[in-house]
Amino acid sequence: MTEWLKNYPKESVVIKAYEFAREAHKDEKRANNDPYIIHCLKVAETVHNWHLDESSIAAALLHDVVEDTSFTLKEIGKKFGQEIAFLVDGLTKLETIKYPGEETNIENLRKLIVSFSKDLRVIIIKLADREHNMQTLQYLMPNRQRKIAWETSEIYAPLAYRLGMQQLAGELEDLAMPYLYPEEYKWLIDNVTELYEERHNYAERVKPEILKILSENNIKPLQIDSRAKHYASLYKKLLRYDMQLNKIYDLIALRIIVKSIEECYTVLGIIHKYWQPLLGRIKDYIARPKINGYRSLHTTVFCIDNKITEFQIRTMEMHEEAEMGIAAHWAYQQIKSSERHSRNWLGVKSRRELLWVEQLRNWQKTLSNKSDYLESLRGDFFKERIFVITPQNDVIDLPAGSTPIDFAYQIHSEIGDECVGAKINNKIVPLDYELHSGDLVEITTQHGKKPSADWLKFIKTALAKKRIKNFVRTHEKRLSKKAEPANLEFKIICEDRQGYLKEITEVFEKLKININYLNSQTDPRHKFTNVTVKCETSPNLKLEKIILKLKKVPGTAEINYKLNR
Ligand code: MN
Repeated sequence: MTEWLKNYPKESVVIKAYEFAREAHKDEKRANNDPYIIHCLKVAETVHNWHLDESSIAAALLHDVVEDTSFTLKEIGKKFGQEIAFLVDGLTKLETIKYPGEETNIENLRKLIVSFSKDLRVIIIKLADREHNMQTLQYLMPNRQRKIAWETSEIYAPLAYRLGMQQLAGELEDLAMPYLYPEEYKWLIDNVTELYEERHNYAERVKPEILKILSENNIKPLQIDSRAKHYASLYKKLLRYDMQLNKIYDLIALRIIVKSIEECYTVLGIIHKYWQPLLGRIKDYIARPKINGYRSLHTTVFCIDNKITEFQIRTMEMHEEAEMGIAAHWAYQQIKSSERHSRNWLGVKSRRELLWVEQLRNWQKTLSNKSDYLESLRGDFFKERIFVITPQNDVIDLPAGSTPIDFAYQIHSEIGDECVGAKINNKIVPLDYELHSGDLVEITTQHGKKPSADWLKFIKTALAKKRIKNFVRTHEKRLSKKAEPANLEFKIICEDRQGYLKEITEVFEKLKININYLNSQTDPRHKFTNVTVKCETSPNLKLEKIILKLKKVPGTAEINYKLNR
């Protein structure tokens, strides 16, 4: 079973770590009486299969040394260097997390989040560890089983999914299900085992048929296989379909792997030519990938014998990404560890990649100011955050419900102050428009424009609120200090129309503000009028209110104001 170790030369850090771990754990046994090192080897083998680097494989071999033996992190650092020690430290911390009900929870969880957000390799090794623990869970006591199964289904499986490791996520959920929902699990086994077999045999019949059809069209797929739906996800789906198994069309899906994206679409067309597709069941996750990065074409057709059958069409790269998620990026891009703290630490190139990696990194920010941290670990991790894109392709992290104003202040306070308009995906939207993940946001500014107190009604970010409140407050202060002698001067540009001046003065009258000076000049060529109004200020003067009312006077084009000391 240690065949894979032979890939590494004797003097490599992997072999050294193996020998060190074997010695350190030599007196330990696992619950099934295996020598403890079997577990370490298994975890490291998984990490090896995921194509992670040697430091990760060494850290996987050493992951329980600090926790379970008398060796310290310092000793690991001395022997294997800081990088491996850093990874082992992260893994050791993960081991010590206590879940709800204890005082130390939140702080430890923060350590977990911080450690893995610094280096995702920690969490990937942890997932390999968790996979093996789940595979050997039957040897533990029932209360431990339940606890570990619960953590797995509530924390680690969703995390694997977010990392794009769909295959692992499904497996972890399936492994946890019999411990968490024994009755439901039994029901499933009783009801679907036969069905799975039948569907599997059917898929085997479809395979040669699809191969024939594709070759008639000069397409040679790299691979065709069938995939059985995971039990846990099937159960979740059944709950939404009144437990009616005949409504589930993707118990077994056929997966066609081809050479290029063009071929994906060609194959889709060919399938639709031979078998009629079900309406509304064609999903193009290539054009619109899932938020975790998943790409594929899905379609459901009336296949041989008129049986409803799902096909998934993708390239090899998409396939490996779907199976291995983030680990596939290591394999494809060979990222050096020295780059991992920079913006391009995963070598991300496209927006799609940037987006989900950023989401993961921002996860910890959401958590660190939440007492309800466990809630945020479950389900949709990022439901409270959105991620929008600047024209420069940067990803900006905002709370859900944020508006273009929040975005503008996030970019720069001056852009926020001077914001007059916004475009989302090239369409003009109002400033209180609610942004969504993936939106491309462009802000229009006007030089010298001041923030509006009205924005406070809809903006979401503390940064924007603080900035606007400060602005409003200092202005009020300045006004009240200079109470009597100060003059407030408005310069209004408006349409040249009869009655305009009268309506302007009425605004001031209604607000009980004395006008000291009023003048207007019309430029006959442009048909515009410049109006100057000087008025007294008072401590309770509401500048925003005056401006708002003036804006409402028909014909007002622009308002500028200043304080005369
Ligand atoms: Mn372990």
